[in-house]
Amino acid sequence: MSYTFSRSQELFQRAQKSIAGGVNSGIRKLEVPVPVYFSHGSGANLWDADGNHYLDFQLGQGALLYGHAPAEMADALAVQARLGLHWAAQCELEIEVAERIQQMIPSAELVRFNNSATEVVLSAFRLARALTKRPLILRFEGHYHGWSDEGLTGFANPAGNWGEEESPASIHPSKGVIPEVMDKIVVAQWNDPEHLRRRVDQFRGKIAAIIFEPVLCNTSCIEPVAQLMSTIRELCDRDGMLMISDETITGLRFGAAGAQGYYGYKPDLTILGKALGGGTPFAALAGTKAAMAPIISGEVVHAGTLNANPLCLVASKWSLDQVLKLGPTHPANIQKLGNRLMKGLLDLAQEHGVPLRPQGPGLIFHTVMLKPDAPEGTVLNYRDYVRRHDAPRWANLRRCLLEEGVRAIERGLWSISLAHNEADIDETLRRAALAFRRHA
Ligand code: PLP
Repeated sequence: MSYTFSRSQELFQRAQKSIAGGVNSGIRKLEVPVPVYFSHGSGANLWDADGNHYLDFQLGQGALLYGHAPAEMADALAVQARLGLHWAAQCELEIEVAERIQQMIPSAELVRFNNSATEVVLSAFRLARALTKRPLILRFEGHYHGWSDEGLTGFANPAGNWGEEESPASIHPSKGVIPEVMDKIVVAQWNDPEHLRRRVDQFRGKIAAIIFEPVLCNTSCIEPVAQLMSTIRELCDRDGMLMISDETITGLRFGAAGAQGYYGYKPDLTILGKALGGGTPFAALAGTKAAMAPIISGEVVHAGTLNANPLCLVASKWSLDQVLKLGPTHPANIQKLGNRLMKGLLDLAQEHGVPLRPQGPGLIFHTVMLKPDAPEGTVLNYRDYVRRHDAPRWANLRRCLLEEGVRAIERGLWSISLAHNEADIDETLRRAALAFRRHA
């Protein structure tokens, strides 16, 4: 018996009368059959307003590395709430959190806090331009760096509008963006070191920084090919550009030192968010002393009323301590669970003749749904993904999964939390089998 969503339907109707578009972040509207309204969560489990139970792999868009509502964090938050919700001033907690980040990430010689990674990305661009006195930022197609004018320029380009393959265009999906911003962002294809060299040489002497998601989690969960990170580092050193690692998703998830520890590279600046706050609105810019110097001197403005809010700091301190306590067992344990889930989903897909191909490093992965006649093999970049991924067919399977109580991110990204266990994977696969039967 699959789930129904009458209470969510009712609430969504009501919301549209007071909330613009009925949701508070555009992509939430994409959930079918309706944006679901949730009531509570615990560990890997989530319940909605209709009383439906889910095994959750959406995990607050990846922020809930520790699962839903961990009791110890909730207790610490309750204690802090009575001591003070907000001071817009200093407290010892902010030093404790900063010291933990320093301890975990070698390139994090200094940090600054914000409330969203979108803001942190803007600070990173500002620092890079201040330090290099150059106007351009190089980014890769399909990588998401927040929703600002600059951060979202070049994120995605609908097929049919691609122009020259070698030189992806700088376009923005939103109206109302300052048009000149488009001239300041150079877009490159992911996972092709030689193409990257050509793009850098084309704008040599004008690029302030190269920004990237080390694992392209926002498009098909694509790991970097060998030589990519070393090529970015080499080009940045050669031309005096800053290397900006956007670890909003990979930070803490890929181990204490994030993706830079996992793949072995040293950026100048790192963007942290999501798991850093364990579900609270918290993000950080971490960097070398040299890269952070203009903030120290005050030449680059960095501000925010709610920066280093004590509630976020309490949640972050608890979160960082969990990862520190786990030591080398993290991310191995969640990776093992994720690999099992990927294999189970692939087996089900093959049994039901569905061309679903999970890809990624396990602890986070994407489910690519191949279009009819699309070639097999790992998806390597954004354009490869758009050419091969059958988005409508995936949306149908995703709906069937949701109706059987398994929740992944709408576009097909699955995250494993430290709260998931083997029994959760068994139950997920049991439910997924029902979803595949209905979808096939
Ligand atoms: N960078 C990456 C890699 C992200 O995945 C996101 C959000 O999903 C952001 C930046 C923006 O983060 P926020 O939503 O906290 O502004």
